[in-house]
Amino acid sequence: MTTSFSPKVLVVGGGPGGYVAAIRAGQLGIDTILVEADRLGGTCLIRGCIPSKALIQAASFHAEITEAARTPRFGIGLTAAPTLDFGVTVAWKESVVDQLSGGVDGLLRKAKVKVITGHAVFSDAKTCTVETAEGVVTIRPEHVVLATGSLPVDLPFLPFGGKVISSTEALSLPRVPRSLVVVGAGYIGLELGIAFRKLGAQVAIVEVADRILPLYDAKLTAPVLRWLKAHDVALYLEARAVGEEGQGLAIETISGERKILPADQILVTVGRRPNVAGWGLEAMNIAMNGPFVRVDDRCATSTTNVWAIGDLVGEPMLAHKASAQGECVAEIIAGKTRWFAPRAIPAVCFTEPEIVSVGLLPHEVPAGVETTIGQFPFLANGRALSMEAGSGGGFVRIVARKADHRILGLQAVGAHISEFAGEFATLIEMGAVLEDLAGIIHAHPTLGEAIHESALAAMGHPLHISGS
Ligand code: FAD
Repeated sequence: MTTSFSPKVLVVGGGPGGYVAAIRAGQLGIDTILVEADRLGGTCLIRGCIPSKALIQAASFHAEITEAARTPRFGIGLTAAPTLDFGVTVAWKESVVDQLSGGVDGLLRKAKVKVITGHAVFSDAKTCTVETAEGVVTIRPEHVVLATGSLPVDLPFLPFGGKVISSTEALSLPRVPRSLVVVGAGYIGLELGIAFRKLGAQVAIVEVADRILPLYDAKLTAPVLRWLKAHDVALYLEARAVGEEGQGLAIETISGERKILPADQILVTVGRRPNVAGWGLEAMNIAMNGPFVRVDDRCATSTTNVWAIGDLVGEPMLAHKASAQGECVAEIIAGKTRWFAPRAIPAVCFTEPEIVSVGLLPHEVPAGVETTIGQFPFLANGRALSMEAGSGGGFVRIVARKADHRILGLQAVGAHISEFAGEFATLIEMGAVLEDLAGIIHAHPTLGEAIHESALAAMGHPLHISGS
């Protein structure tokens, strides 16, 4: 049996881009259908942001109590090392995912969005067929929002399968591997590699560039590097994976040296590619931007009333960018004047310690623009010391234009600083200058006082470190 629908909006993909577009469209009273092939929530909720942060949380807790069993902290000791039932850890992580995926389902229902489960395939830009458990559904919408996301990139000489896994499998392993080799030192590889180290695995990281997190400068990543060294994570920079060999992974360094790294599992995190194949994109007559779907600053594709958002349209491939685009497109379809032109999109690495960056890094400031840079260390922040988060080299850094003190970029590295992303983004979106930040009272004792102090440092008169 074939059922037909002609809604105003069809959203394809129920990740943070698609489900937010659908909820907002529903809130605006638009007749909306969302098609999702898998579970609601997409990469982010099911096999990305949320499960990885749950695993990181559990791993950090395990590492802290293991350490307390070795060396008492704050006068608190343990008489035995903790035990780890990893199956229970993974089940707990799944319960967090289930709760959020169910929550998205509820929100879509409340917004009166019709959800169809199945794989959407287009035969032209406005005709879509979905094979569902109940039969074939044909949808002919007025507007299409494409939000099909991205997939992990594999290496031809190291295809996924057997002991070679992507982040998806790494988040649901049956046990903690004794030895894990991570190929690629971007944020996903580092977050997972560090989590498994904290859970007791021997971890090696192989990276073809000469440093970890190559998008960031060496000062910002130094505390993470220090943690890796202090925790015996073997780091092979300027080295490339060659292929599986014996019980491990063969790698070759830039100097031609060959080595076999023991590996129960090999986690390949060398990037993600837009999901453009297998659903009829080629039948939609849509212009591309390299491997991504090309969109303008309203997320409009080259085909009338076909919009595209999220990982499908390019970097940064981050959930909050996808959601912001989804909200924007729904409002445009509803007739509001909107465009997607953020001044800055925050990026966070949930490494040890965490890194957050919004706006320009010092080396990204265009040539000819003179800057003033202020930096404040957590070593001089009372809250950081009282939380044992002061050592390890963490700091807040601010980059401002010298001529008018306009804040161009904010970065921090340290424990618990991912929550700074909101304040950093607000300052940049609102066009703040150093004097604005210097005039904002930050509560004491909080880590956020370091943000205030970084502005004072950029102006040459920090209060809690000696100025220039
Ligand atoms: P996706 O979330 O990929 O959703 C696309 C959806 O479309 C999927 O559910 C898919 O099943 C569905 N779909 C595809 N084709 C069809 C079809 N033809 N028919 C029906 N359904 C279809 N980002 C952050 O901001 N912060 C983080 O901390 C973070 N951590 C991450 C950790 C990991 C391990 C990974 C892998 C990613 C992480 N990301 C993080 C990135 C984030 O997950 C993505 O940027 C985000 O999910 C992109 O959202 P999206 O809606 O564009 O696509």
